Amino acid sequence: MLEVPKEIKGLIKDGAIFYVSHSGGKDSQAMYSILRKVVPSEQIVVIHADLGEVEWEGVQEHIKEYTEHEVWVVKAKKDFLEMVEVRKKWPSAAYRQCTSDLKRGPIMKFIRNDLKKRGATIAVNCMGIRAAESAARSKKDPFRFNKRESVNGRVQRSVYDWLPIFDLSTKEVFQVIEAAGQKPFWAYKKNERLSCVFCIMGCVNDLRHGAEQRPELYKKYVDLEKKIGHTMFMKGREPISLEDYVGIKAI
Ligand code: SF4
Repeated sequence: MLEVPKEIKGLIKDGAIFYVSHSGGKDSQAMYSILRKVVPSEQIVVIHADLGEVEWEGVQEHIKEYTEHEVWVVKAKKDFLEMVEVRKKWPSAAYRQCTSDLKRGPIMKFIRNDLKKRGATIAVNCMGIRAAESAARSKKDPFRFNKRESVNGRVQRSVYDWLPIFDLSTKEVFQVIEAAGQKPFWAYKKNERLSCVFCIMGCVNDLRHGAEQRPELYKKYVDLEKKIGHTMFMKGREPISLEDYVGIKAI
């Protein structure tokens, strides 16, 4: 059971709306399951940022199967491959334009509009980020006031970012899902991460699984690399094509 920070207890009392960003991945699934136990149902809103063709097929159905709340689906105007083609560059771990433009942006827009519609003023943006995922993530603050999204004028809005499962290990995440009587998305049989089939931060194993499952999408990525002259990955300081990185020829 989650040790609820006192700030969160205060926000629940103050009527904050807890917006749960749900990618369909194991971390989102475990986070939602935990939040169901600590946040009153009427204060929870579930949002999925639809990544279109680049996301695993069936992810939205998976979220709906294990979610008791309505799942609000938001989508950016541009899609991932269009964004790369226009920029002639793939996003990188240091510059994750994909996350900011295709996920965070549309989700924050939804939060602003939904708060207004409800006449509420406090939002808690809940994300399934964990310290164990990477050194960079371990440095994040699991609870913070989001100054950029908050306003204090004619319109009043206080936004907080909360990472409820920040301290959980991967094993514990799967245990939470199992204890809830649920199953993780089927691709986890082979994958470590989910969301985009071909993630800029995906390991070779996940990318290979993606190429096996979605050969037509794999080809689009390979062709796009050639078209823009920029590769998704580097080997040391040298660019390496997706086909060489993954070890599968696109057909
Ligand atoms: S899953 Fe990877 S490639 Fe897709 S939006 Fe997230 S960071 Fe970017």
